[in-house]
Amino acid sequence: MIERHLRARGIRDPRVCQAFDRVPREAFLDEKHRAEAYADSPLPIGCGQTISQPYVVALTLQELSVQPEHRVLDVGSGSGYQTALLSYLAAEVHAVERIETLASRAMETLKRLGVTNATVHIGDGSLGLPAFAPFDRIVCGAGAPDIPNAWIEQLADGGRIVAPVGPRDVQTLLRVEKHGEHLRRVDLGGVRFVPLIGEQGWR
Ligand code: SAM
Repeated sequence: MIERHLRARGIRDPRVCQAFDRVPREAFLDEKHRAEAYADSPLPIGCGQTISQPYVVALTLQELSVQPEHRVLDVGSGSGYQTALLSYLAAEVHAVERIETLASRAMETLKRLGVTNATVHIGDGSLGLPAFAPFDRIVCGAGAPDIPNAWIEQLADGGRIVAPVGPRDVQTLLRVEKHGEHLRRVDLGGVRFVPLIGEQGWR
């Protein structure tokens, strides 16, 4: 998967590739989907949600440029796969998931894999996690109408957000960089994610 779907398509960040090498994607899937774990496609994880396509996750993480000392907010943790990848890239990861069943399953999987620097919180991630802010990096696995103000407020100066933004059925992956009062937005291409349901997302 790393050679064929990631490196061949331009994922060159060695730390991102190493994280993919360390985290077994099949551990985040039901038995009936495990055989497809290394295909480059999203797969069902229950509760009407999906684990994202590996290439899109890799692109997101490469653009996020997470450093070892960073504290990261991961909104919409779903199965916990991206949270596990982030746990190898950052010092501390706070993930938020609105569906309790998925959040507890993700926490169990992370524990089973020996991840100790990531926590999955249950709640509305469109509001961020003010109690743990500021974050050096914020990443989201669900599509929002626009970048929530709460994330901008909770992002450290010099920090970055990577998130899908736009209409409900198809979005643009955006990289947002915060420099004092100035925000720089970079379009990374079209993507399709499930909606971010919440107070600063879709109602
Ligand atoms: N990155 C995840 C993984 O590795 O499994 C997959 C993310 S899945 C495509 C999107 C997730 O966002 C779903 O689990 C959904 O329940 C969650 N979600 C949607 N709106 C949310 C919100 N406001 N707060 C937290 N989670 C939310």
